[in-house]
Amino acid sequence: MTLLEIDGLTKRFGGLVAVDDFDMTVERGEIVGLIGPNGSGKSTVFNCLMGIYNVTDGQIHFDGEEITNDSTHEIVNRGLSRVSQESNPIDDMTVRENIKLFTLPNSILAFSGGASDEEIAEYAARVDIEDQLEEHPGSMPHAGVRRLEIAKALATEPEMLLLDEPFAGMNQQEITELAAKMEEFREEGITQVVVDHNMGGLMGLVDRIVVINNGDFLAAGTPEEIAGDNDVQEAYLAGEVTQ
Ligand code: ADP
Ligand code: MG
Repeated sequence: MTLLEIDGLTKRFGGLVAVDDFDMTVERGEIVGLIGPNGSGKSTVFNCLMGIYNVTDGQIHFDGEEITNDSTHEIVNRGLSRVSQESNPIDDMTVRENIKLFTLPNSILAFSGGASDEEIAEYAARVDIEDQLEEHPGSMPHAGVRRLEIAKALATEPEMLLLDEPFAGMNQQEITELAAKMEEFREEGITQVVVDHNMGGLMGLVDRIVVINNGDFLAAGTPEEIAGDNDVQEAYLAGEVTQ
């Protein structure tokens, strides 16, 4: 069953066409990789999905309902959550307070004053940072801060998680550990879209890969199909997509 459907998505910034008539669908339960070179429009697609940017043209449906240009608050409450490419924790707050803040965009949780301490500990435990709840993000290593960013997204109780370059800046062990967490999220029923500028880290993790190039759909298929796709190979040879 289709959970996310993007039809003809176009986003212009003045004369710059960042996303150009882009189509993509995600089935419930899938982990889909969205790859493309830097500047190809991946983060812009996520910003349009989250209602951060108003779309220039096209439609977005989530769980059968149109969400195009809905407010971020409405979109989060429908079950979409995004881990941004850049971490933005509040250093003056503890890890616990940072996570709690993110339970507030969810109307149901906000109604009761945000998540309880037990609920926050559970969100943290899903990314193994439950022992750091009283620490400040500034004292955590990069991979720990990235886990905090994921815990914040989990705290909105998403059906679908959008992860923008989640493995960037991580060593191989940290990548392997995070990929295992993403498998656990899948088992918990969370559908995921993972953006990366190369496909190496996504092999073995994702069910399907969609390739975006110059804001436009280039190819879609299993990781094996994409690795053997002539158009994608040409883009690789042109240095537009790095492996
Ligand atoms: P990617 O995430 O694939 O690296 P982006 O979606 O960040 O690419 O960017 C796609 C294009 O849109 C780039 O040319 C970028 O400079 C441009 N862009 C993204 N956000 C903005 C913005 N807020 N204002 C103007 N241009 C933007
Ligand atoms: Mg980006």
